[in-house]
Amino acid sequence: MSGFVFAEKPIALARGSGVHLFDEDGDRYLDFGASYACVPLGHAHPAVREAVTAQLGSLPYAHGSYPVEVRTAAYRRVAALAPDGLDDVWLCNSGTEAVEAALKFVRAATGRAHVVAAMRGFHGRTMGSLSLTWDPGYREGVEPLLPEVEFVPFGDADALVDAVRTDTAAVVLEPIQGEGGVHPAGTRYLRTARGATRAVGAALVLDEIQTGLGRTGEWWACEDAGVTPDVITLAKGLANGLPVGATVVADWVADGIGDHGSTFAGNPAVCAATVATVDRLVVDDLAARAAATGAYLRDRLEGAIDAGALPARGVRGEGLLLGVELKRRVGPVLRELALDHRILALPAGGSVLRLLPPLTVERTHIDELVHGLTEVVA
Ligand SMILES: *Cc1c(COP(=O)(O)O)cnc(C)c1O
Repeated sequence: MSGFVFAEKPIALARGSGVHLFDEDGDRYLDFGASYACVPLGHAHPAVREAVTAQLGSLPYAHGSYPVEVRTAAYRRVAALAPDGLDDVWLCNSGTEAVEAALKFVRAATGRAHVVAAMRGFHGRTMGSLSLTWDPGYREGVEPLLPEVEFVPFGDADALVDAVRTDTAAVVLEPIQGEGGVHPAGTRYLRTARGATRAVGAALVLDEIQTGLGRTGEWWACEDAGVTPDVITLAKGLANGLPVGATVVADWVADGIGDHGSTFAGNPAVCAATVATVDRLVVDDLAARAAATGAYLRDRLEGAIDAGALPARGVRGEGLLLGVELKRRVGPVLRELALDHRILALPAGGSVLRLLPPLTVERTHIDELVHGLTEVVA
């Protein structure tokens, strides 16, 4: 019996530990993407397990309208880590919900509906977020979606400036497009987006669901560009594998918020995981670690390309969110990597191999990946 939505892979996962996953036969796999950036501390981290277990034993659920110490702590941790000036935290259960909330908040705060998003962008699959997700493959059969969404070519600063109008509520961008092929926006583009939105009183919403929490070598990818948005969305790694999302907004956006809510939003068990995760990220300084190991990963990949051992057009991305543009279809490469070398990675489009391991990955694991990859493509 299998679910009817996902096409399942031929590896039955049974447990995880650190950067490794184990199948039902006890075979060990190196995780360079199976966890989709959702376990920055590595699988089954004891600090998270202990925090959640304790919370399950005291108060697993309390509605968001009651103050609960661990929920307040989660709000504080997320606000403290968020870019300066973003202090107001809405917790929810997934990335797409964080984007839905962002859409409602910016509409309410500006009284406007026009939203500019980028071609190749991915923001989730519920109806509002899907309206900002460009690839027709995600949208086919369920349109019409939200009106007044305008897509511009990602990275084209002039096109972005032209699209922003006095009735624009927000520009929504990923600082590095993840699903779309690991394409960094670049400093100039993000600064242009900041200037254009500010000039008309629109919000700049940066979707850091995949790029945030230290993955790119900074806590937030937007820091690299020196850009502070009005709203960021996060999810994926925020509770090291438990379902959580967050929309963090500047005061002017928070002041305009009308009704919003969700029964399980900010539930204490997940808040306990969130607090434990953020604390470990900060104490272990995993952003700095991602910068260092990411640089090593990039060097090794580029070295293999230069040596002719890896037929690829190049490496894109930052820190431990890297894409390798292969000279062939990525699907068969991923399959062989998994079945012959027990290394799990991800695609990002047809020919891009996407690597996003736990931030605790070590150089020996990187050596193992590069060795396996060069054997597969040889
Ligand atoms: C994964 C992702 C989402 C959607 O998150 P879900 O939790 O799957 O709904 C949105 N934006 C970006 C950039 C993502 O990587």
